[in-house]
Amino acid sequence: PKGTNSHRSPELKDIFIAVKTTRKYHKSRLELLFQTWVSRAKEQTYIFTDGEDKELRKRAGANIINTNCSAAHTRQALCCKMSVEYDKFIESQKKWFCHMDDDNYVILPSLLRLLSSYHHSQDVYLGRPSLDHPIEAAERVKSDGSVSVKFWFATGGAGFCISRGLALKMSPWASLGNFISTAEKIRLPDDCTIGYIIEALLEVTLTHTHFFHSHLENLQKLPTDTVLDQVTLSYGGFENRRNVVSIKGGFSLAEDPSRFKTVHCLLYPDTDWCPKMNPR
Ligand code: UDP
Ligand code: MN
Repeated sequence: PKGTNSHRSPELKDIFIAVKTTRKYHKSRLELLFQTWVSRAKEQTYIFTDGEDKELRKRAGANIINTNCSAAHTRQALCCKMSVEYDKFIESQKKWFCHMDDDNYVILPSLLRLLSSYHHSQDVYLGRPSLDHPIEAAERVKSDGSVSVKFWFATGGAGFCISRGLALKMSPWASLGNFISTAEKIRLPDDCTIGYIIEALLEVTLTHTHFFHSHLENLQKLPTDTVLDQVTLSYGGFENRRNVVSIKGGFSLAEDPSRFKTVHCLLYPDTDWCPKMNPR
């Protein structure tokens, strides 16, 4: 019956996971994701890139979407990708939209556990604020820019999730190219624009969660025994300024500089390439 069904916990198939990438990172970043967490969520992970790559298409076994957006690291190009992510999510009929960067590891069991506390038909915007205060911008959508608005936004580099109910309400400012014009009006990056539409225009508040992580924070500070409970991880600066989670396993720092393989093998020790930790 309907009643029991609507309260069940979300399953992987209910989530649309968008990964933003760019042609030059197909080898250096995406490959690692396919090897690790994406292999456990092939059906629901969608890769949004900007250049055709037949090799990737063959190997990936995931959904590759060529956005035809420019490969430049500009506000316009990044907003173009976010706009395609949004449209594809709406089309997908899935219950949750989760955006990730290509340097994020998604701990799928934690993501499911987190989403199970919420309902997809309610207004839910979950993520990590990138600042410890709301951002202030001139209001150029509802008024002429003479007044300013303050709002929180979830940092895109840590990943964020939006319920379908809320995503549908964003449509006038987000669908079919409207996202790009909204971002141009307020002159802010893609993740800020998402926050602007949700907090400033729709008056729905960001649920601050510290389970999402970008490399803007010091990842070494995450207590080792809590790493697998997080929802997203990231990595930054491989050489002398390494910023990675501190976790021990079968791979040295040289073999696994991002620590993603180590995390993956702790989560899924049955994976064929994982080292056997306790040989007899
Ligand atoms: N990215 C992109 N186009 C570019 C450069 C980067 O789509 O020209 C994507 C990249 O694949 C990643 C995200 O934007 O998913 C953030 O890029 P990066 O990690 O290099 O920068 P940072 O996290 O320092 O902002
Ligand atoms: Mn990054």
